[in-house]
Parts: sequence; C-alpha cells; structure tokens
Amino acid sequence: MTTLETTELRDRMSGQVITPGDAGYDAARAVYNGMIDRRPAVVARCASVQDVRVALESGRRSGSPIAVRGGGHNGPGFGTVEGGLVIDLSPMDAVDVDPGARTVRVQGGATWGAVDAATHRHGLATPSGIVSTTGVGGLTLGGGHGYLSRKHGLTIDNLLAADVVLTDGRTVTASQTDHPDLFWALRGGGGNFGVVTSFTFRLHPVDTVIAGPTLWPVEATAEVLSWYREFLPAQHEDLYGFFATLTVPPGDPFPAELHGRKACGAVWCYTGDPAAADQAFAPVRAMAPQWEGVGPVPYPALQSAFDPLYPKGMQWYWRGDFVRTVTDDAVAAHAGFARELPSPLSTMHLYPIDGAVHRVGATDTAWAHRDVTYSQVIVGVDPDPGSAEALKRWTVDYWEATHPSSAGGAYVNFMMDEGPDRVRATYGGNYDRLAEVKATYDPENVLSVNQNVPPCRR
Ligand SMILES: Cc1cc2nc3c(=O)[nH]c(=O)nc-3n(C[C@H](O)[C@H](O)[C@H](O)COP(=O)(O)OP(=O)(O)OC[C@H]3O[C@@H](n4cnc5c(N)ncnc54)[C@H](O)[C@@H]3O)c2cc1C
Repeated sequence: MTTLETTELRDRMSGQVITPGDAGYDAARAVYNGMIDRRPAVVARCASVQDVRVALESGRRSGSPIAVRGGGHNGPGFGTVEGGLVIDLSPMDAVDVDPGARTVRVQGGATWGAVDAATHRHGLATPSGIVSTTGVGGLTLGGGHGYLSRKHGLTIDNLLAADVVLTDGRTVTASQTDHPDLFWALRGGGGNFGVVTSFTFRLHPVDTVIAGPTLWPVEATAEVLSWYREFLPAQHEDLYGFFATLTVPPGDPFPAELHGRKACGAVWCYTGDPAAADQAFAPVRAMAPQWEGVGPVPYPALQSAFDPLYPKGMQWYWRGDFVRTVTDDAVAAHAGFARELPSPLSTMHLYPIDGAVHRVGATDTAWAHRDVTYSQVIVGVDPDPGSAEALKRWTVDYWEATHPSSAGGAYVNFMMDEGPDRVRATYGGNYDRLAEVKATYDPENVLSVNQNVPPCRR
C-alpha cells in the first residue's frame, strides 16, 4: 500500500493503523506461531464494522494481499501477510449472551475464553476448542471441535447466523434463511467468503463438568490406544475423551515422580448426571492409569487448562488427518513416535468426531467429513527457534507413517500451507460447490490468504 493509501486509511478508520516504524509494530505483526515472521505493510486494527468496510475497500483498491486476523492462532499464519494489509479484528471482541433465547452473539475478533466466561455466568456453553486463547473467527469458520462435540456437534453445527462484510463492501447476514449459500460455505469453508464481524451461536446447559486427564506410561501406548479406539465410540455422548501422547509437564497437578516422563493418556469431559459419573469412568479406571486427575471443574477452567503450557510465540509445526479407523499399523506407529517426541511440549492428539457430529449430513455444511471417527493432529512445539527443523522433521515423518491409513483430507484448521490438492481432499465432494459460492461472493479472490478455494463457475 502507498503512503497516500495508508494516510487515507488512518483518516477514515476509528481503530489504530500501524505501519513499519510505528511503536508497537513488532507486537502488532506477531501471530501465535513463532515460526511465522512476516512484515505486513499495514496492520489495520478494526474497531467497528465500518472500519472493516474501509480497510477491505482500501486493500482491494491497492491490490495488496489481504490477511484477516481473528485470534491469530492459525498454524501457517494466515492471520498475517508479507508486504500486505492485515485486517486485525481483535478490538471487536464483544460478547452478548441472551440467556432466555440460549444464544450468544460474538464479534469476529473475540477469543473463546471471553465467550466461555460470559456464557458460564448463565450455566451455558457452545462447543469450541480446548485452548481459550484461540480465536472464535478462525476456529468457527474451519468447523470447530472440542469437549462438547460428541454431545452437541461442531461449533458450526451451533452457528445460527453470521454478519459478513463482503469484498464488494456490502454487509449481509447469512443464516438458514438469508444468503443460505453463503451460510453453507461459512460453516467449514474458512475465511474465503468475507470478513465475519459477528457470529450468533446456540447455547446448551453446561456448568460444572467432571473432567481431567488419565495417564499411562509411554510403554503402554499400543495397549491403551487399542482399548481407546474400541471404547470411546461405544460410549454415551455424555462422555468425551481425546487421546494424547505427551511428556508429563513439570508442575501441578502432576505428581513429581512423573514430571518429564513420556506418557500416553486421555483428557476426559463428562457432561451427564454427576451421580452416574463413577459408572461412566469405571472402564477407564479398570485400565489402571498410573495417575488420574479427573474431578468436578467449572467448564471455563477446563477450557483454559492448557493455556499456561502453550503461550503465544512458540515454534509450532503441525500436520492433521481425518481418521476413520485407527488401524493396527497406525497403533504401532503412534507407539513408536510417542517415544521420540522431539521436545517436552510436542504431542499427538486424536479428537473424537462422532455422536452429534455424525447427525449432520456430509453436504449440509461445507465440512465434508461427517463419517470419520477422529481428527488427528501431530504437533511439534518448542520455545527455541533453533529446534524448528527438528520439529518439522519429526512431525512430517510421523505424519507420513500414519497417513496411509487416514481417511484422506484433514481438518482444515490443522493444516499447514500444504497446497491445493490437500485443500481439495479436505473438502471432498463439497469442493466444487464451495468454488461456486466463492465465485458469487468473492469473484476476484480478494481473500486468498487462507486455505484457498479459488472462484470457479461450472
Ligand atoms: C493452541 C491451539 C489449540 C487449538 N485447539 C483447537 C481445538 O481444540 N479445536 C479446534 O477446532 N481447533 C483448534 N485449534 C485450531 C484453530 O481452530 C485454528 O488455529 C484457527 O485457525 C484459529 O483461529 P484464529 O481466529 O485464532 O486464527 P487466525 O490466524 O486469526 O485466523 C485463521 C483463519 O481464519 C480467518 N479468519 C479468522 N477470523 C475471521 C473472521 N472473523 N472473518 C473472516 N475470516 C476470519 C483468517 O483469515 C485465517 O485464514 C487450535 C489451535 C491452537 C494454536
């Protein structure tokens, strides 16, 4: 963008406009993943829908690449762009709960911690991810899975409406009745279609849950995973548990003798009748975990339990896959790679994708993989930039070992910048329809800094 365009942006926007050389530029350009080191020409901190409209118009006129940032947690760093314009929605973080209607309206730059805190005051919640600093924007537009998903579906299955600024400057509301094609595409299609300035979600009664981890020694990974893959899908949807391989963190609540030890485990969340919780957990306890931290916990506390372990700015490299069946070969690969975690924070998670998620059809939303059982993510994480290559190597080697038994495609929010074929595989049978909706709402592909679906009319 030229100096003139930037000056004009400053004049017309109520939010801050930050350029190289300004105090705070380095903080403004930084995203969650410390591996991403891009220098945008302008970071436009939008404080209103009008600011978004102005920034989008200005970026479009200048021909600069435009990145839209919600919480900035995206792995490949699509919340920023080299030499272009960042539309940073972080000042737009209002959360309004309607307890009577059991809905919440959330502005496009809010994080899940703010949403959980506001809805918890009314004993309500909606499905989202497992770290509270993640943005509502990116997580929702990619699909969103977490502790409540077996019972209440993906985040998008609870989306009722979205207010969107389109690349031609129009502001529209998308819902089942208004712009239903856009509403369909927003539910899983990522940031391809416009800038979402607010989301309205359905809420469910969720208050104190019975939750926490159970751990086993890393040597038991094959045995525990073989049990878990049969156990969890057969359980009532009140019980959720994701499987993990990990290094036991060196602090509370973990016992000192386990600190720094490699392990496998599951993190559980039970939302059923508390009186029946012991019965629900009995088969887990029968597997004789070496340590258990399951107990009553307010839902927002569970949602933020991992926050201190994973602050902003660490090196992140991840690879995802959808998994229909965890095969014996995959079990063996997980057991092997669990022993070779390249850093204490590196991990592998298998998130359940069943229950309520399967009750929505494959073509009902853009999220095509309604028949898989797990969303797998392999994550190399470390604070030291010097370990970046080792993290990448371990992650890719691990991914290549398990990928042959995957369902094809990955959760779009667990992909790096892996090329158009991976995006196509992820959207499967919905890809062509997404490209058509893109042609209707963003025909010039102004919003291309994302897992891009280029516009195409058949
Ligand atoms: C620590 C951690 C834990 C995670 N856990 C989970 C989990 O449990 N479940 C899960 O489903 N995912 C999880 N994720 C993945 C997460 O969903 C993605 O990283 C997601 O992209 C984050 O959204 P964001 O708004 O923070 O990211 P950003 O980098 O801001 O944005 C991501 C993408 O969405 C677009 N976008 C964001 N907001 C808007 C908007 N308002 N309008 C239009 N486009 C927008 C951006 O342009 C970009 O392409 C996790 C990620 C991290 C880093």
